[in-house]
Amino acid sequence: MTTGRTRERGEHVVLLATGGTISSRSRAELDGAAVASDGADDLLRSTGGPHSLPVRVVDVLRVGSYMLDVDDMLLVCARIREALADPAVVGVVVTHGTDTMEETAFLADLVHADPRPVVFTGAQRAADAPNPDGPDNLARALALAGTPDTRDRGVLVCFAGEVFAARGVRKSETLLAHAFSNPDEGRDGWAGDRPEPLPLPDGGAGCRVDLVASYPGADAAHLRASLAAGAAGIVLQGTGIGNANPVLCEAVAEATARGLVVVTSTRVEAGPVVPVYGAGGGKDLLAAGAIPTGLLRPSQSLILLSLLLRLGWSREDIAAAFARRGGEP
Ligand code: ASP
Repeated sequence: MTTGRTRERGEHVVLLATGGTISSRSRAELDGAAVASDGADDLLRSTGGPHSLPVRVVDVLRVGSYMLDVDDMLLVCARIREALADPAVVGVVVTHGTDTMEETAFLADLVHADPRPVVFTGAQRAADAPNPDGPDNLARALALAGTPDTRDRGVLVCFAGEVFAARGVRKSETLLAHAFSNPDEGRDGWAGDRPEPLPLPDGGAGCRVDLVASYPGADAAHLRASLAAGAAGIVLQGTGIGNANPVLCEAVAEATARGLVVVTSTRVEAGPVVPVYGAGGGKDLLAAGAIPTGLLRPSQSLILLSLLLRLGWSREDIAAAFARRGGEP
């Protein structure tokens, strides 16, 4: 017995490795650049063990997460689903680069249709650093994934001794070990009513989604370049409560008139996007057809919009999904 209930024979945790700093080593032939190097076996060995449950390892990718696209992230989600197809699997741990962990973890959460936990972790210091943080992060994530307490809590990020819900989690430190925060939901992960899972799409052609920022002096050049590149969706990173300016707002109206789905998020750390201001502010953006993202930041708005466009959802259904999934926890 390893937790509060009797363990079944064969129960185990699956470790899916995708690369990131936790697997990186510096390469002399690359002028000392750090490159994802260690596989899942090496990562598990680095923890020293023993673990409360046996661990089965799977190598999915071996790259820095700054290189990933949405298709790669969907591949990770498909591997999670494959792992959970085995009833002897108690939980899944994904090792992942920290740069885009907030995207992949959120995508995995959106399509997670299982009570068993999926726990993402990684590292801020490389595997060959004098004092790597990856082994301890991984050991804790493995323990968490093997605990019945984490059932029905969706996808979690376990990092530097803290646990966060996937929705709202953000990388908020470039160097410090406490790399993540969840400004709107705090620590301990999602406790509330979880929205129904979304299907995992198998295709994605024609689903380019671009991120366009508003900033002092921003014109519509980037937005128009996205239109010219064939974007199906745009995440507008507004300022403040979700504002742009008259020039951008006019281009948003043109984009939505052409059938693109535009959503308005914000560069501010916490709090919801609310349509309040005119003169190119959020109220005008709403009138121009842009959908407010609520509490979802640009990174996770891009993931939700990409997923829904791949699933072929209408603008109205996408607006309803942002209202539900971007709402207060
Ligand atoms: N800093 C990153 C990391 O943690 C690099 C990456 O995202 O892969 O892993």
